[in-house]
Amino acid sequence: MSKAILVINCGSSSIKYALVSERREDRIYGLAENLGSENARIKGITAGGEPLELNIPNANHQQALEILLGRLAHYNPQAIGHRVVHGGTLTKAELLTPAIIQRIRDATPLAPLHNPAHLVGIEATMRLFPELPQIAVFDTAFHQTMPAHAYRYAVPKFLYTEHNVRRYGFHGTSHAYVSERGSELAGQFKQGGWLTAHLGNGSSTCAIWNGNSIDTSMGLTPLEGVVMGTRSGDVDPSLHSFIANNLGWDIYKIDRMLNSQSGLLGLSGLSNDMRTLIEASESGNEDAALAIEVFCYRLAKSLAGISCGLPTLNGLIFTGGIGENSAHIREKTVGYLHLFGFKLDKDGNNTLKRGTEGRIDAGTGPQIWVIPTDEEGRIAKETECVVEELQQIKQAEIA
Ligand code: ADP
Repeated sequence: MSKAILVINCGSSSIKYALVSERREDRIYGLAENLGSENARIKGITAGGEPLELNIPNANHQQALEILLGRLAHYNPQAIGHRVVHGGTLTKAELLTPAIIQRIRDATPLAPLHNPAHLVGIEATMRLFPELPQIAVFDTAFHQTMPAHAYRYAVPKFLYTEHNVRRYGFHGTSHAYVSERGSELAGQFKQGGWLTAHLGNGSSTCAIWNGNSIDTSMGLTPLEGVVMGTRSGDVDPSLHSFIANNLGWDIYKIDRMLNSQSGLLGLSGLSNDMRTLIEASESGNEDAALAIEVFCYRLAKSLAGISCGLPTLNGLIFTGGIGENSAHIREKTVGYLHLFGFKLDKDGNNTLKRGTEGRIDAGTGPQIWVIPTDEEGRIAKETECVVEELQQIKQAEIA
């Protein structure tokens, strides 16, 4: 694997890793999970495609990274790309210098669960591979092309100018990848208007014009927008004061409820997992059926809402665990968008499952595509671009 890029995604108790070859065909990947607990372990796939399972009891992030990097060092990665959820107003992937690390630290109040974990990973890999270029690729960067009328909230201006309160958007690497790939497959590379629906445990929508994000459903935090596994998405902003006044809950308890006990889980009282809900609904569970209906209706409403910034519409792209796998959810969502003229090819829709990309419209109206997301591949690509830019700058200095 010459010129491979190592992609690291450090979460609060897990680390996803992928070593991506130059042409993004070969991957060694896996997950270190349950970090800091007795059950800490690494699960992954080796270079030979064999499953890897390694118990690392009580290992923390630093120790897990040491083990992982020790196993991968002999592949001589040319750079490390770190997924970073919040980059504030940074507009593209950046070489990790002390100034950029400070920008990530400064954005911590906007992503208190994610950015501190990313910083732990960044510091550990910098200690272990001091000679390698390390690049941060931000979930927020793709959405920095949104116009002010899409990213500002209608609240007093000082909250924006003094406290950075605005809409940022997330899942940027996924929306960027699937919109580029979909438009390429359609023969309209980065041309015209596209809507993307990234539907996983976290879900968001995005409107893209000529390759640039012009609006998205997530906002200051990843809580805004569509219904998710355990997150409520949009609610009346007065819900906080209503609950505080009537139930006596403090703001942290309300926040936890909206982030961890709401969404599909809250509506169904059963599960945050779409597969479980579809099965339950087919066996007559009415709460599961309602959770699915609210999910699809709100999703369609979000797509319709953000489409108003697009001069024309080429098509809609589904991705993420739910978007890639569930013909049922795609059909219901498209059904709510009938005013747009979408027409589904039902047989085509029913055959597309994880890992398969394809077009599922009936040939009239806007296109509909399923594109499996590839966030690791996109992070590797952006990392490679920064490394190439740095090499060009160096060569120009020598010349
Ligand atoms: P994450 O956001 O954590 O990366 P994924 O993109 O893997 O998550 O998506 C997880 C979601 O995808 C879960 O709700 C899961 O139920 C759903 N999912 C996976 N396969 C199917 C399927 N065949 N039908 C419906 N939902 C599915």
